[in-house]
Amino acid sequence: MKNCFFCKIAKKEIATDLIYENKNIVAFRDINPQAPVHILLIPKLHFPTLNDFMSNDKYLAGNLIYNAAKLAKREGIAEQGYRTVFNCNEWAGQTVYHIHLHLLGGRKFRWPPG
Ligand code: 5GP
Ligand code: ZN
Repeated sequence: MKNCFFCKIAKKEIATDLIYENKNIVAFRDINPQAPVHILLIPKLHFPTLNDFMSNDKYLAGNLIYNAAKLAKREGIAEQGYRTVFNCNEWAGQTVYHIHLHLLGGRKFRWPPG
C-alpha cells in the first residue's frame, strides 16, 4: 500500500536490517524496543489489522507465529520465555496500521498487561 511505512520496509524501499525473510514475511528489530529482544514480524502484503485476516490468510498467520518461535530460539529467549502480541486497533494501542507480530523477550513480563 502506498505511503505505508511497513510496506516500504517489506519492499526494501527503506533500508532496514532484516533479521529474517521468507517468501511472504519479513522480520526486523523494533526501533523503540520495549525489552532486550523486540522483533516485529510482518507480512509482505498489506493488512491494516488482525481483523483483516480472512480464511485464506490462515497459513500466513501461522507463518508469522511459527517464525516468531523460531526467532525466539535463535535469540536465546525461548527457554526462559517470551511474549508474542498482535495489538489490534486503538484500545490495544496499535499505532502502525500494517499488521505486525511483536516478539518480546529477555526480561520478565507481568500479567495482565497494562
Ligand atoms: P503497535 O503499537 O502498532 O503495536 O507497534 C508498532 C511498533 O512499530 C512500535 O513498537 C514501534 O516502536 C515500531 N516502529 C514504528 N516505526 C518504526 C520504524 O520505522 N522502524 C522500526 N524498526 N520499528 C518501528
Ligand atoms: Zn503496509
